[in-house]
Amino acid sequence: MQKGIAASPGIETGKVFVFREQAVSIDQSAVSREQAEHEVVRLEKAVGTSLEQIEAIKDQTIEIGKEYAEIFEAHLMILEDAVFINKMKNKIRGDLITAENAAHQVAEEYIAQFNNMGNAYFKERAADVKDIGERIVRNILGIESKSLSELTEKVILIAEDLTPSNTAQINRNAVLAFAVDMGGRTSHTSIMARSMEIPAVVGLCDFSQKAKDGDMVIVDGSEGTVILNPDAETLKRYQAKKEEYLKDVNELGKLKNEPCKTVCGERRIEICANVGGREDCAGASDKGAEGCGLFRTEFLYMDRTALPNEEEQFKAYREVVESMAPNPVIIRTLDIGGDKKLPYLDMPAEQNPFLGWRAIRICLERTDIFKTQLRAILRASSFGKVRIMFPMISGLAEIRKAKLILKEVQDELEAEGVHFDKDLEVGIMIEIPSAAITADLLAKEIDFFSIGTNDLIQYTLAADRMNERISHLYDPLHPAVLRLIKHVVDASHRAGIWTGMCGEMAGDIAAAPILLGLGLDELSMSAISIPRVKKVIRSTNYRDAAKLAEAALNLEEPDEIRAMVNSFLSGLNQTPESIILTEGV
Ligand code: PEP
Ligand code: MG
Repeated sequence: MQKGIAASPGIETGKVFVFREQAVSIDQSAVSREQAEHEVVRLEKAVGTSLEQIEAIKDQTIEIGKEYAEIFEAHLMILEDAVFINKMKNKIRGDLITAENAAHQVAEEYIAQFNNMGNAYFKERAADVKDIGERIVRNILGIESKSLSELTEKVILIAEDLTPSNTAQINRNAVLAFAVDMGGRTSHTSIMARSMEIPAVVGLCDFSQKAKDGDMVIVDGSEGTVILNPDAETLKRYQAKKEEYLKDVNELGKLKNEPCKTVCGERRIEICANVGGREDCAGASDKGAEGCGLFRTEFLYMDRTALPNEEEQFKAYREVVESMAPNPVIIRTLDIGGDKKLPYLDMPAEQNPFLGWRAIRICLERTDIFKTQLRAILRASSFGKVRIMFPMISGLAEIRKAKLILKEVQDELEAEGVHFDKDLEVGIMIEIPSAAITADLLAKEIDFFSIGTNDLIQYTLAADRMNERISHLYDPLHPAVLRLIKHVVDASHRAGIWTGMCGEMAGDIAAAPILLGLGLDELSMSAISIPRVKKVIRSTNYRDAAKLAEAALNLEEPDEIRAMVNSFLSGLNQTPESIILTEGV
């Protein structure tokens, strides 16, 4: 058995097909000045061919799902980026090298820059540039791209790396599952596997070296493991596990249209999905999301070379709002900074980026960026139910400034005769302890809170959310975290407003009964977590949950709290292990 990263849940067994791209050899020799012009023409032709190929793949992929096609839109943007292509031409003319050498070198420079940014998102953008760079080189050399669409026999696809273009060409009826050496949970390939509902394991290091065509393999995308040439007993065990998994998914699917309320119906929670754009909305609705509790708009600002303008943003917000309508969408204003950098925005290197120039702090300084976004959000509010949310609020002054700017933008739109929802709710994220502690003061200024536990936990416990070494300290069930949540919920209710939660903790079934008992009004999570959290809430009696929450607040150690919740969940027949089937994605 080999352990990798669980990229897409499900279990499949089948025959191995190892996918290897044809090796490309790059001519490193120098060229004359005249030859250089010829090389520029070769490059231009190859870029043209690449554009045509990607357009074609994009059309093909629209049939599979618009969300995949968007990945190729990102590729087209890279190809159409004049700076990127001109750099290649300048290299040919300046260094007198071949077209393929220049294309390869420029792509490598971009890849290194993205990789150096050190966060998972930019590493994935590096993968996009790699994909494009290799395509241009292959087209310069006239090497045909290998297509996976021709696979007809049912196989398990094994590869060192699968680019998004490769993945999009997969014949879904033939590929039962895939396992690749590279990639992470947020790689495009993993995202596509989840949307295509193909079980997948990534990050397997050297598995493609060990597997041979025709071998048998089990891919357990829920657990993140692969087993090469399993014996009969193992095959039987995994077949039983697969049947169990499918039964479970089927059962949970029945809850899709059921309300997220407690056993006797005394308490109902709004259960929502976190989305990064339109591509996540279909999955959210399919899993029964009653709205979007967090639209991370910063993704719109990434994967590009300049700020998105008002029209682009309006279009993106409108699409999400319309696809979730009539359900509400909480659009969070730009939350850049920390681990999320924009290469085209002059962001200083900081000693402590998570404590630095981020989110609302940037927006209150760069009011040009903030106002453009607010205009786009307000315009989108005519097309459904929009709520605005400001991130990283530390105190009253920031709320007041942000609201003043919002008011200015509303007045501008009104003067221009542009329609928007004048009653739209305005809320803030509670993700800084100072905001949690002064929740009673902040509640007077806004319509709702949404607790961002991803940051709140790291700031409360002084435990960097990105640092593996101290991850044992980063504990959602720490009494300090639970007490802060209680304080925020109670303060909001006293002020007559509601509190939701959109950090990862909201989708954790080990936290669900406590959050219910603490009185949270809304929980927003990755769509895939919705059915299980809903099941826990629907199996719980509100009074029991309230007692559990009260008991948790009086315990001393996170482990004691965990043990208590586990025994509570066992009583409901919802062991934490049972979530592993859909967790890990
Ligand atoms: C959070 O901090 O909990 C949150 C939802 O925001 P992000 O993860 O985008 O920082
Ligand atoms: Mg946050």
